[in-house]
Amino acid sequence: MALALDTPVGALQGIGPARADALRGAGIQSLGDLVRKHTPFRYEDRTCFSSVAGLREGRQVVIRVEIVSVSAVRTRVRRFRILELLVRDDSASMIVKFFNQPYLEKVLQRGQQVVMFGEPRRDSYSAGLVMQNPEFEIQDGDGEDSIHTGRIVPVYRRLGAFHPRTLRTTLYGVLQELGEAEQLPEVLPPEVVRRYDFPSRMEALRRIHFPEPRPGEASADLMERLERRDTRYHQRLIFEEFFRFQLGLLVTRSRRRLQPKQRTVRVDRRVREAVKSILPFHPTGAQKRVLGEIVRDLTSSCVMTRLLQGDVGSGKTIVALQAQVVVMENGYQTALMAPTEILAEQHCRAFARRLADTPYRIAFLTGAVKGKARREALEAIRSGEARVVVGTHAIFQKGVEFQNLGLVVIDEQHRFGVLQRSRLMKKGERPDTLVMTATPIPRTLALTLYGDLDLSLIDEMPPGRQPIRTILKSGANREEVYRLVRRQLAAGRQAYLVYPLIEESEKVDLQAAVEAAEHLRTEVFAEFEVGLLHGRLPSEEKDALMRRFSNGEVQVLVATTVVEVGIDVPNATIMVVEHADRFGLSQLHQLRGRIGRGEHRSYCILMFGRRVSPEARERLEVMRRSSDGFEIAEKDLELRGPGEFLGTRQSGLPGFLFANFVRDRKLLDAARLEAEQYLARLEAEGTATPARLTRLLQRWRREFFLSEVG
Ligand code: ADP
Ligand code: MG
Repeated sequence: MALALDTPVGALQGIGPARADALRGAGIQSLGDLVRKHTPFRYEDRTCFSSVAGLREGRQVVIRVEIVSVSAVRTRVRRFRILELLVRDDSASMIVKFFNQPYLEKVLQRGQQVVMFGEPRRDSYSAGLVMQNPEFEIQDGDGEDSIHTGRIVPVYRRLGAFHPRTLRTTLYGVLQELGEAEQLPEVLPPEVVRRYDFPSRMEALRRIHFPEPRPGEASADLMERLERRDTRYHQRLIFEEFFRFQLGLLVTRSRRRLQPKQRTVRVDRRVREAVKSILPFHPTGAQKRVLGEIVRDLTSSCVMTRLLQGDVGSGKTIVALQAQVVVMENGYQTALMAPTEILAEQHCRAFARRLADTPYRIAFLTGAVKGKARREALEAIRSGEARVVVGTHAIFQKGVEFQNLGLVVIDEQHRFGVLQRSRLMKKGERPDTLVMTATPIPRTLALTLYGDLDLSLIDEMPPGRQPIRTILKSGANREEVYRLVRRQLAAGRQAYLVYPLIEESEKVDLQAAVEAAEHLRTEVFAEFEVGLLHGRLPSEEKDALMRRFSNGEVQVLVATTVVEVGIDVPNATIMVVEHADRFGLSQLHQLRGRIGRGEHRSYCILMFGRRVSPEARERLEVMRRSSDGFEIAEKDLELRGPGEFLGTRQSGLPGFLFANFVRDRKLLDAARLEAEQYLARLEAEGTATPARLTRLLQRWRREFFLSEVG
C-alpha cells in the first residue's frame, strides 16, 4: 500500500494496537500528524567516530567496531539477563552490555560490523570502560543510508511503548515512503512565502526530522543552529504558527469591531463634572491620555475591548472608575471583576468611598456571598437598582442577570485566556470591556496573549513618589532587619512581612508563617499590633484585618503571598520578604509594589537563605538594580521561559508546536506585521467574507485552543 499523509498510523507495519493507542493518546491519528506533531526535541551529532583506545568516561561517542564474542549471562539475584559483547576496532577492544533485552541474542552476532552510540562508563564488574545499552546499527554493507549513526540524528520523546529509537526508524521510513509528491497544503499567503523564500512545509518537516548540513558546513555548526532552531526549515514552521495565530487574533478583533453596539454613550458637561467630582487628586498626563482613549471607544459605535497596561502603582484603578462613571452617567450599569476575594473587597471599599456623594449603589458579589445577601445582590443587579457590581468571576456565573450592563472592567486579569475572555464578552448586550493587567507584560507576550485587544499604556507614575530602596540581606541578619522595621513603625509607618507559600509545601509554609506571626506578636514587635493574613482565613476575617491595616489599627501585616495583587495602603513603607529567593521576579515586583505608594521613603528588604542558587542570586540582583516593571518582566521571561512566567494556573498560553516567544520574538514581530497586512488586503479586496472568516476562526480555535474549546 502506498503511504499518504492521511494514512492512519495503525496501517504502518510494526504498529500494533498498543502502539496505535499510544499514538492516538498523543493526538496522532495519521502519518501527517506523526510527521508534524512528533518532531525531535533535540539532536545528537553522531558524525564522528571515536577510537576505542581513546575513549574517556562520561562522554557520548560513536564507535565503529566488530563483534568478537557474544555471551548471555543470567544473574542469580533478581534474575537479570545480561548480554555481554566483546567488541573491537583497530585501536583496542571493550565490553558492551545489554540488560534484559533477550531478543538481542538473535540479532547481535559474532563477526558483525556494528556502529554504536553511547556513553562509556566504569562498572564494578568489568575491567576498563563499558558501554551499557548503547544504540547500535548493524552495518550490512549494502550501502543504505544510516539512520541512527554517522549523521546528526533526531532524538524523539518516547510515546507510550514507542521507544525513541523505534520512532526514529519509523519516521525515517515514513518520510522515505511518502516520497516527493506528497505535500501539505500551503497555509501562508503565496506572496509571504515568496518574500521570505520559505521552503514548502513538507520539505521543512523532512529537514527538521533528518537535518543535513549546508554545503561546506561543519556538523558542529549545524548542531548549534539546530539547538537555536535557527534553520530555514524551523524558521518557516515557527513563522507559520505565529502568522496563523496572529491572524486569528486579528480577525477576532476586527469582528468585534464590526458589530455595532446597542447603546449610546455621550460625554457632556454634566458627565465631565461627575467624573471630576470623584477625583481625589490631579490625574497624571498619562492617566488623562488613557482615559481619553477609553472614552473615545465608549462613545464610538463599536464595542470596546481594550487592555490597560501600567506598572504597579501607576494608578490604573482611578482611570477605570472614571470610565465607569462616564458609562453610569449615561444610564448603564458597570461591573468590576477582581481575581481574588480580598481584592474585590478592597475595590468595593474604595469605590464606596469615592462614590459616597453620588447616587450610585454598589452590589458586592463573590463566591463567598451566600443566602439572603446573595439573593438581595442578585435582585439589585437584575432590577438595576445596583449601578456598580464589584466582585470576582462569580459576577459572570449563571443566574446573574444585569438590567443593562454597559461596561466591564477586569482587574489584574492576566489569568484568563483569549477564549474565556471571548465568552465573558458575549454576556448580555456585549458590554464594552476594559482589561487591566497587574504585571507588566513584555511586548511579545502581550501581542500573543492580548493580540485581540487594543492597547493603552500608563507610562508615568503619580507625582511625589520616592524611589524604593531595595536591600538584600541574608537570614543571619534578621535582628538588624527587625531594627529597621521597628524604626519605621516608631515613626508611625506600617510594615509588611511576607512569607512565601509555595504550593507543593503549602502546609509547612503556612505553619511557618503562623509561628512567625506568633513570635513577632509576642516577642519582637510586642508593643505594636501584628496581624496575620493568609488565604485560608474566612473572608470576614480577612476583610476585617485588611480594614484594620488600612486604617492603621494594625501596624505589622504578616502575610503569605495574598498581598501580592493590588493591595493599597500608602502608609506602609517597609516590606520584608522572607525567602525572597523562592519567588519569581514578577512576583517580587508585584510584592514590592505594595510599598512606595505614599509620600514617605520606602524600603524593601529581600531576605535570602543560606543556599541560594546562582539564578536566584541573579533575580535578587535584578530587583536591587531595577524598579522598572517592564525591564523586570523582560528579564523574568528570559530567565524562566513563557510557560513558567505565566504560572501553572495559566490557561492563556496556546499550544505551539514549534514557536517560542522568547527565543523567536523577531519572527513573532514579523509574523504579526504580515498578518496585519494580509487581513487589511483581504478587507480592501472585499474577500474577507463573513463565511470565510468564520471558517478561519473555527480552524484557528481547533489548532490553538483545543483544550479550551470544550
Ligand atoms: P495600580 O495601577 O497598581 O492598580 P492604583 O490604582 O492602586 O495602582 O494606584 C496606586 C496608588 O496611587 C493609589 O494609592 C492611588 O490612590 C494613587 N494615585 C493614583 N493616581 C494618582 C495621581 N494622579 N496622583 C496621586 N496619587 C495617585
Ligand atoms: Mg491595581
